[in-house]
This record gives sequence, structure tokens and C-alpha cells, in this order.
Amino acid sequence: MARRFPWVKALVPWSNTWEYTRGVHDGLPLLSYGCAPRDKLATFRQLRAMGLRPNGNDPIAVLYVRHNRSKKVSFASLYLIETAAPVRPMTPAKYTALAKANLARRVCRSCGKDPLYILPTSTRQCWECFEANENAEMTEAA
Ligand SMILES: [Zn+2]
Repeated sequence: MARRFPWVKALVPWSNTWEYTRGVHDGLPLLSYGCAPRDKLATFRQLRAMGLRPNGNDPIAVLYVRHNRSKKVSFASLYLIETAAPVRPMTPAKYTALAKANLARRVCRSCGKDPLYILPTSTRQCWECFEANENAEMTEAA
């Protein structure tokens, strides 16, 4: 059986010398688990754990992980730690925007009241209005 990701020696942006990769994926060097340098590359979540963000930089490589049980292959974008920037601290404006967004998820679109819970995205209605609607539809059908 041909190997799906053969080893390929390539020049990569994070190294001055030729490095072994597993080919190319979406135009980016593909790496397998264990061969990505942990001090230079990180996934978005790993950056976050370090208090960093990609800073508008595109991923620089792709990591693939094979799940032995399901035989599925998943891909993760890798960013250069060097070009990452610290996560922006929360500002009062950001808190306000978040509060607004959360409130919008609670206001019923039929009665305009806040039932103090997050509404289902399918109806955007509080339970009372949803029930009233259902009953109206049932009486119409009958
Ligand atoms: Zn309502």
C-alpha cells in the first residue's frame, strides 16, 4: 500500500535548513504529529494557552493527526509563535458589546420580553409565545 503522506524534504519558513515534511496541504507544508517544532509552531489553541493570538498572520503549516480507531485524519493549522502577539485585554467597550450580544439572545422576538434564559435560535421566542403559536396553528388546522 502506498503511504498517504510520504516524507518530503522541503524549505520551510521557520527554518534555515531543509526540513522533513509530509508534503503539501492547501499550499502549506504538511507536518505529522511529533515532527512540528513545538518551540516555533503552535495551533490557535496552543497560542491562546500562551496568551498569544495569530496577530492577523495566516497559518504557516498544517499538522495532521490520524485517529487509529476511526482511521480518520484531522488537520490543524499551525501558526508561527514568533509573529504572534499578546491577546488584547478586555476593554469596557468589549464588555458592553458582549453584554448586548448576550441580551439579544434572550429577548423574545414576539413579545419583546426577556424571560431570563437564552432562547432557542430556531424560534427566538420565549416558551409562552412558542406555545401560543403552536396552539394557534393547531386550532387553524382543526
Ligand atoms: Zn415571548
